[in-house]
Amino acid sequence: MNLSKSKYCNGIQCKKMLWLDKHKPEVKEDVGNETVLENGNFIHEIARYLFGPHVNIEFNEDLSEMLRNTALTIDSYRDVVITEASFDYYGNFCSVDILVKKGNKYEIYEVKSSTTLKDVYIKDASYQYYVLKSLGLDVTKVSIVYLNRNYIRHGDLDLKKLFIITDVTSMVESMFDEVGENIKGINEYMEAKTEPNDDIGEYCFTPYSCPFFKYCSRHLPENNVFNLAGMSYAKKVAYYRKGLFRYEDLMNEKLKADYKRQMEYELYSKEDYVDIENIRKFMNTLTEPIYFLDFETYQIPIPLYDGLGPYSQIPFQYSLHILDRGELSHKEYLARTGIDPRRELAESLVRDIPMNVCVLAYNMSFEKTVIKKLADMYPDLSEHLLNIRDNIKDLMIPFQNRWYYTRDMHGSYSIKYVLPALFPDDESLNYHNLDLIHNGSEAMSSYADLANHSEEEQAYIRERLLRYCELDTYAMVKIYKKLKKMCWL
Ligand code: SF4
Repeated sequence: MNLSKSKYCNGIQCKKMLWLDKHKPEVKEDVGNETVLENGNFIHEIARYLFGPHVNIEFNEDLSEMLRNTALTIDSYRDVVITEASFDYYGNFCSVDILVKKGNKYEIYEVKSSTTLKDVYIKDASYQYYVLKSLGLDVTKVSIVYLNRNYIRHGDLDLKKLFIITDVTSMVESMFDEVGENIKGINEYMEAKTEPNDDIGEYCFTPYSCPFFKYCSRHLPENNVFNLAGMSYAKKVAYYRKGLFRYEDLMNEKLKADYKRQMEYELYSKEDYVDIENIRKFMNTLTEPIYFLDFETYQIPIPLYDGLGPYSQIPFQYSLHILDRGELSHKEYLARTGIDPRRELAESLVRDIPMNVCVLAYNMSFEKTVIKKLADMYPDLSEHLLNIRDNIKDLMIPFQNRWYYTRDMHGSYSIKYVLPALFPDDESLNYHNLDLIHNGSEAMSSYADLANHSEEEQAYIRERLLRYCELDTYAMVKIYKKLKKMCWL
């Protein structure tokens, strides 16, 4: 079969992934790899300038055109930096992110959008080394280029500091024969006319989540070990291998109380558990007026503004419900398109939330972190912002501590599980009923993409963003009221 860098990496994770991709693409599921891909493309565009002027080989559906352009460029220059230089060795195709040619010597730079050096990146580079070396090129150096998580932008983007370049030459050299064997193994495997019956294993989740897991695990009952919230994949696979994958089997195992609780409630449809004393103690720590706060943020690999590092959270929106003597009011902020929203959002926040009031968030560490970063950035607003941060309480606590637990929470205390479990029939709290934006990642990508839309479309998307975020804090109000009613009925 014709291989590429990504197909080779998929193939060494699990050959069946390639087989299913070719013969049963309709059973593939979306596992969120698109964002990783978009980030990767973005990083490649920036990293191209690491070595100064370069010749880019434009992508072409007709790969032979890319091969031809690469050969022409190599022949035309003694020394040159080529991006996306493309090569093919008997159907094993690869485009090198950055190829540095110095006379007859070549250096490969593989660019990644991650902030850590992963084993799979070295495998990816070893495939490229194999292809170029097999074609007779004198490759003297192979390196992985990835993001420096400690870089903070001040002024112009400093590419030399933004990226870390790690030399992996000796590692890929030692893997040369292994790559040849792997390619041979993949090709033999792909000749199978009927579906191979490889079993599921840890490789279904690492290094990447496989989009065929639902299909490959279709023989498992609904209540199976892979649905246990919070257990590591390694442990799940170990139980599966021992044949202990049904909840009924696992109930006799020595397991954490949280897992046992989830299984018990789901197997025997147990009544809701409520520890009213602890919930009451928690509720007594909250004093009205209460400010229910939720931020939306976006993250991109390249720090766009001063004070940001790779993947820093940039808050662009918040929703605020205020409950005061039984009256509910609502405030909101959504940044204008294309601005650095941090200062404006921080000013709006200190206008909307007075000092020394009770602020309620769900999973408060996120809101606290966002506010602390704003306080560090804007010393003139710092006192007020830190006061807001210090007064935040977490509505997640009763659920995290399992003082309130129901079967439909499925072992989770995330608001996305808790809310439908508490209000199964309340359509006003159903995120599926929202138009266009139904979750945080859709909000993030919609905001980041606003500038690519017409004014009319932007207005429509902005309205959807506002309604999504409003539902987040409205949901908190409903949960708060439900707990209050339980405590003091
Ligand atoms: S789910 Fe697992 S076994 Fe199935 S194709 Fe993916 S990695 Fe292979």
